[in-house]
Amino acid sequence: SAHEPQRPGPRRIGVMGGTFDPIHHGHLVAASEVQAWFDLDEVVFVPTGAPWQKAHREVSPAEHRYLMTVIATAANPRFRVSRVDIDRDGPTYTIDTLRDLRAQRPDAELYFITGADALAEIFTWRDAAELFELANFVGCTRPGYDMDADALGGIPPERVTLVEIPALAISSTDCRERKRRGEPIWYLVPDGVVQYIAKHDLYPEDPEGTP
Ligand code: ATP
Ligand code: MG
Repeated sequence: SAHEPQRPGPRRIGVMGGTFDPIHHGHLVAASEVQAWFDLDEVVFVPTGAPWQKAHREVSPAEHRYLMTVIATAANPRFRVSRVDIDRDGPTYTIDTLRDLRAQRPDAELYFITGADALAEIFTWRDAAELFELANFVGCTRPGYDMDADALGGIPPERVTLVEIPALAISSTDCRERKRRGEPIWYLVPDGVVQYIAKHDLYPEDPEGTP
């Protein structure tokens, strides 16, 4: 079963944090590639609570972002979705996400999966030193963002593995803007997510074009 370790040694759990407003195929390909690369037993998608890095814009309610993430990941037996960040009060900090997941599975090895852009911001996160105690970090290539020494900032290179994933120039911002302009998002996000967005009229058409 997908729920039992497939090899000796600790269970390996990928952690894919994100706003997921909406989740798209860039997220899913990155998670799938890292799952295969590290032979992860599972990848946990963790939608953020109040996303402190996005204070400049309105983020969709957590329950919508959570349900879209469930819909997008439901078919993959190795993918699951955690509510730890949306059920915690206040803004989401990665350190809290990793502490909570560690408390749930004290014996597991955690692999925190992040795109090149988020990796570059790692030192805006609190408690950087403890972050490296709690998890391995996996940086995924992302079109438009360099993955060089600069992107690593001051992160110890031995604590980060860079993984090149098939380039998908998809972003949630672009998906929202396309919806607001009345353009299709079919095939950028899973079909069920297209339908969920239509059903709940997320990102309604707006000629002014607020992202
Ligand atoms: P937004 O445009 O609203 O910032 P986003 O597309 O960047 O949305 P997030 O929810 O911010 O999506 O991203 C969650 C994680 O997924 C981040 O680590 C981000 O770098 C990574 N990611 C997002 N899109 C891609 C992509 N196309 N390829 C690789 N990684 C990605
Ligand atoms: Mg982003």
